[in-house]
Amino acid sequence: MAMKSGKEYIESLRKLKPTVYAFGGKVESVVDYPLFRPHIVAAAMTYELAKHPEFEKEMTATSNLTGQKINRFTHVHHSIDDLVNKVKMMRLLGQKTATCFQRCVGLDGLNATYITTYDIDKKYGTKYHERFKKYLKYVQDNDLMLAGAMSDPKGDRSLRPHQQQDPDVYVHVVEKKDDGIVVRGAKAHITGTVNAHEIIAMPTRAMGVEDKDYAVSFAVPVDAKGVTLIFGRQTNDTRRLDGEIDPGNAKYGIVGGEALIVFDNVFVPWDRVFMCGEYDFTGQLVETFAGFHRSNYGGCKVGLADVVTGAAYWMAENNGVEKSPYIRDLMAEMTSMAETCWSCSLACSYQGSKTNSGAYTINPLLANVVKLNITKFTYEWMRLAQDIAGGLIITMPSEKDFRNPEVGKYIDKYLVGKAGTPTEHRMKMLRLIENMAVGAGLPEALHGAGSPQAQKMMIQRRANFEGKKELAETIVSIKPDKYFKEITGKTEDEYFKELREALPKCD
Ligand code: SF4
Ligand code: FE
Repeated sequence: MAMKSGKEYIESLRKLKPTVYAFGGKVESVVDYPLFRPHIVAAAMTYELAKHPEFEKEMTATSNLTGQKINRFTHVHHSIDDLVNKVKMMRLLGQKTATCFQRCVGLDGLNATYITTYDIDKKYGTKYHERFKKYLKYVQDNDLMLAGAMSDPKGDRSLRPHQQQDPDVYVHVVEKKDDGIVVRGAKAHITGTVNAHEIIAMPTRAMGVEDKDYAVSFAVPVDAKGVTLIFGRQTNDTRRLDGEIDPGNAKYGIVGGEALIVFDNVFVPWDRVFMCGEYDFTGQLVETFAGFHRSNYGGCKVGLADVVTGAAYWMAENNGVEKSPYIRDLMAEMTSMAETCWSCSLACSYQGSKTNSGAYTINPLLANVVKLNITKFTYEWMRLAQDIAGGLIITMPSEKDFRNPEVGKYIDKYLVGKAGTPTEHRMKMLRLIENMAVGAGLPEALHGAGSPQAQKMMIQRRANFEGKKELAETIVSIKPDKYFKEITGKTEDEYFKELREALPKCD
């Protein structure tokens, strides 16, 4: 099947019948549920833009399995160019939607599983990789959206999975059958699940031999028997029902919709099982996935920064202060922070490498630096956007009052900015900034793809502090520079003695 359009994606969701709960009730039709609409429309853009010739390079790729042109969201990266185009795609979509377009988590799950199954098979002679390639082909041929499900609820964080009082707080295998496995447990805050076609589940942490049953990776359709999705709340979520101005970003929403996924004795046929007991590969799968997803944030969140910087500039112009040195300074700060994150994202892609499987992965140290910067800079550039926009972002009357014939005229008269621009435009821009700079997008930038502590642990592990210490020790000659003789053909003493004699005397 050819790549889907946005409309075809939405139509394809109608064929699925997932068990979804939101706001205390069962959702009969995901596509027709008003609170899901912005998320669905944002995800649809990952399909729609891939159809557009202008974005072909970023949005499409050539499948290594079939040689066909496919949506990049189903592609396993096979070159540095692929990695770079992936983050360019994310910045582009961030600019076009100003929100989370959700489909990247599944993409990262596909890539991490592709790489890891190859290595598992090499060590154990299993057949996961071939199985996974068949599944990947199915995903590519049908242009599916996958929810990447990694985070387990975790219960008592000081205990390992097998030590938990309730064994289900981590997803685990409860039965092995001839034709497949049965899994139980849950995955928490999983982006885009209600409007995905499939769920790809992966372990959430490195595990030991006692956690063997928890070392499991698999894929199921969102409407598989025993799967229940409970949709998460977000700040101002019911604003989505409040007209065109008050939602802030009425078309695409503010953050990706997340869900708690419950697996209540779900049967998974063997051809959809990609790890089952190989606990020594859980760490690799988690790190590879996390590296990919953290590298994305310098793409998608920078796209959002582009939008909020533009909105702040619009407000500055509308307030007649765009030439003020203070405002210009803030605008430069916002841009500099965003481009720093973008540079990190490009760097971790350009510094990527080929894995045993032939697929490419990003530089993991730099990917973690990308995400750590995002956890800080997002708050900072959103703070500056709040500063430029002014207090109206939190004091402005509602859209309903603006539409009210009695008082709307006063809002129109007194909340106007520069002459010639309708008050309504100003209200729209203020609400956009409110939703981006005050709403749920902030903690999403902090905790999405792992909280700061997770990045710091990875950075500590890969920073090579010992190597850096040695650099300092050789500079002050506490330790000999072991490369010195190779480079100069002399000992340090001989070299510097000669150099001192050759240099003109200073006195
Ligand atoms: Fe994609 Fe960014 Fe949303 Fe993650 S937070 S799914 S990388 S848009
Ligand atoms: Fe995210």
